[in-house]
Amino acid sequence: MSLENVIKELKEKKAKKVFVQYPEGLKLKVVDISKSLEKEGFEVILCLEPTFGSCDLRDQEAKRLGCNAILHIGHSDFGMRSEMPVIYWEYEIDVDPIPTLKKEFDKLKPFKKIGLITSVQYVKAMNKVKKYLEKNGKEVFVEKVLKYPGQILGCCTYAAEKIDDKVDTFLYVGSGKFHPLGVAVKTDKPVYSLDLEKNEVIGMEKEKMKYLKKKAWHNSRLEDAKNVGILVSWKKGQNRIDEARKLKVGLEKKGKEVTILAFDRVTKEKLEGLKFDVLVNMICPRFDDELYF
Ligand code: SF4
Repeated sequence: MSLENVIKELKEKKAKKVFVQYPEGLKLKVVDISKSLEKEGFEVILCLEPTFGSCDLRDQEAKRLGCNAILHIGHSDFGMRSEMPVIYWEYEIDVDPIPTLKKEFDKLKPFKKIGLITSVQYVKAMNKVKKYLEKNGKEVFVEKVLKYPGQILGCCTYAAEKIDDKVDTFLYVGSGKFHPLGVAVKTDKPVYSLDLEKNEVIGMEKEKMKYLKKKAWHNSRLEDAKNVGILVSWKKGQNRIDEARKLKVGLEKKGKEVTILAFDRVTKEKLEGLKFDVLVNMICPRFDDELYF
């Protein structure tokens, strides 16, 4: 969707005061976007709290600030209920993946059957990759679970899990290790990332081993811990307070002291000065990566 279409949709929804949420990667562009919206007559408020996914929908905050619509950039709609209209601008990245794929093609030589996965901003790029791979003798598998075929989230990798037994490897099309690492941890096959920022194909095996070792070590510490902190969030799509309460009761039965700690976003600084032997993450399942400091 283009900015023009976003403006059209906002007008159709009778938006006047727009609360804008966006991922950190778009921070440099978001002021220009807000100026373009202001030129069209909207009042704009930029949310400075980081927004990692559609799970983080701040309609109550927007309402308190007098807004009547939300523009959620960089994520797709996964059906969160809202007190006001929400326009999801997926902010597709226009990049040609073929030069990098051609250059790095040998890394995929050992594999005949390839499962493709991507994040919402790279759906078009993934479709180009699919055509190229098929033209070059590969059998390609793409499963649809979310809005687009092949689309995954950090916390939803079913598009890969469902075809794990059919493929020899997975190729993630996008950037960064967050999404492909999630697939590597949840499946049995080797995972590669066609990283369109670094312009290379990167294997995830080393990262996976590092992650699993750390996770096993942290899990083993829970057994011996005396003081346990359970981290929860009040974010709309990450609120697992009921499960946290049940866990607290279970751990207390095992003789542990348990405290529930509520956050907007977890940071190391906020936890400083608190003496817990172990913290249990019940926020975004992928914040584990951040907590291994
Ligand atoms: S819960 Fe975490 S991984 Fe899932 S959409 Fe939200 S931020 Fe992304």
